Amino acid sequence: MSTETPITVCISRAKEQYIPFILLVTLWSTVCFALPDFLDNPIHGWKGWAAIAAYCIALGVAAVWPLIIGTLNRYVAAVFLPIYGALGAVVSYYRLAYRATITPIILDATFHTNPGTVAGVVDKSLILWLIINILIALLFVWWRYRTVRVQHPWLWLVAALIILPVYYTFNSRLNKSINQRYPYNIPYNLYRYAHLQSLRNQPRLMPEAVRVSDSSDSLTIVVVIGEAIRADHLGLNGYHRPTTPRLAQRQGVRTLGDVYSMHTHTAASVPHMLTPADSLHTDYAYTRESFIPYLRQAGFRTAWISNQDIGDTYAHFIHSADTAIFPNKAKSVFVFDRWTDADLIDEVCGLPVSPKQLLVLHTIGAHWYYANHVPEDFEPFSPVTDNRVVTANDSLAIINAYDNCVAYLDIVLDSLCGLFADRPAVLIYQSDHGESLGENSIYLHAAGAEETKHPAGLVWYSESFRKLYPQQAEYIDSLQTNRLTTDYLFPLVMHTAGLQITE
Ligand SMILES: [Zn+2]
Repeated sequence: MSTETPITVCISRAKEQYIPFILLVTLWSTVCFALPDFLDNPIHGWKGWAAIAAYCIALGVAAVWPLIIGTLNRYVAAVFLPIYGALGAVVSYYRLAYRATITPIILDATFHTNPGTVAGVVDKSLILWLIINILIALLFVWWRYRTVRVQHPWLWLVAALIILPVYYTFNSRLNKSINQRYPYNIPYNLYRYAHLQSLRNQPRLMPEAVRVSDSSDSLTIVVVIGEAIRADHLGLNGYHRPTTPRLAQRQGVRTLGDVYSMHTHTAASVPHMLTPADSLHTDYAYTRESFIPYLRQAGFRTAWISNQDIGDTYAHFIHSADTAIFPNKAKSVFVFDRWTDADLIDEVCGLPVSPKQLLVLHTIGAHWYYANHVPEDFEPFSPVTDNRVVTANDSLAIINAYDNCVAYLDIVLDSLCGLFADRPAVLIYQSDHGESLGENSIYLHAAGAEETKHPAGLVWYSESFRKLYPQQAEYIDSLQTNRLTTDYLFPLVMHTAGLQITE
């Protein structure tokens, strides 16, 4: 005969509440910490909302496994949940209040900033949000400690391990973007930070260079790395829309209308462009130095000013410059926020004047979401997109938003030329690849589509450059009628500086 009374049955059931417990913890984590990542996203129509819902569910499912591991044991839960709540509160607060996310650059800046400066971004709202979430975490701890019992912890551990492949699958399908969302963005970007630190000091070969032409004491070389700008959307190259009216009027502009890129995404294309890599020596992108240390040796003051996150494949080059500046440290392409390349010009204006200088500007250009990389209300072509899911937009709106980026590039490049017009200066603009705008139902880049292999390129030089460096100016003039590959960039920069590799 059973000794179980109705009271003990009731207590026993009350102590089997792990499923509702873990579901509520997951709901708290998803709503308070993951959802803020999406609140400022452009969303319109059912496709946009469905994508956000799918993202949040994916994050909720993927994030369950650390929550299970952290709460299976009630003593571990008592430590894990308040820490999880505190970190989640801080990350979600800065995402909402400052539209800032964690990047290796922001971590680097935080580690190298004095505590007084960090304290400057702590405010009452953050403290309140922190207290609320720590209290919620403590409530969960109390619930877990007092009534929730896990009858088969090993089964739950197995369940957590089974969810791991779900996380990896979603993450790889979504371009690693789950890694960039809470709760993964803290450990992921700490790992990225440490990884980039190790990459930047990796040795590269640097064959000797010799001076092959005369040089004056005054020369500015500006290399602008474009992002996803295709040549056939420049008015300069015959596009039917007037996307480059300012550059068309500026003296000294030479368009490179026929440049081929063998790479169709940033990580592969940028190191290829900056090094002596070519189709026969593609490995040089990863084994040779860029033109930056050569020009440093030749007396140029060098600066890397970037509107993009640091990629593994070009972290080394950034470190090789005298100065590295990131005006938008807390932005990544996973954040749908507005930042424009005008920020790079502000940084250029703030640099100390140097008679011989090399500036490498890495632009955000026409990276998706296009409408966020031009100033608000800058819409020479409209209507523009209203949805973060590219295929949920009207095809004309996509092209309009893209052409607005090209028209804004016209303003940015023309302003840069204006800054250096009264001194011997050369500006070389080369986009890293093109962009698919719906051809064969393909969008964006990296899929290897033909239209992504024809990036925009152009060169401008000042009148005083032409007078001081006639040989170099003549070489630049000769390029505009040539069919080129992006291989041209390294020798052009070296030639402009009067240098040539001896091997
Ligand atoms: Zn790119």
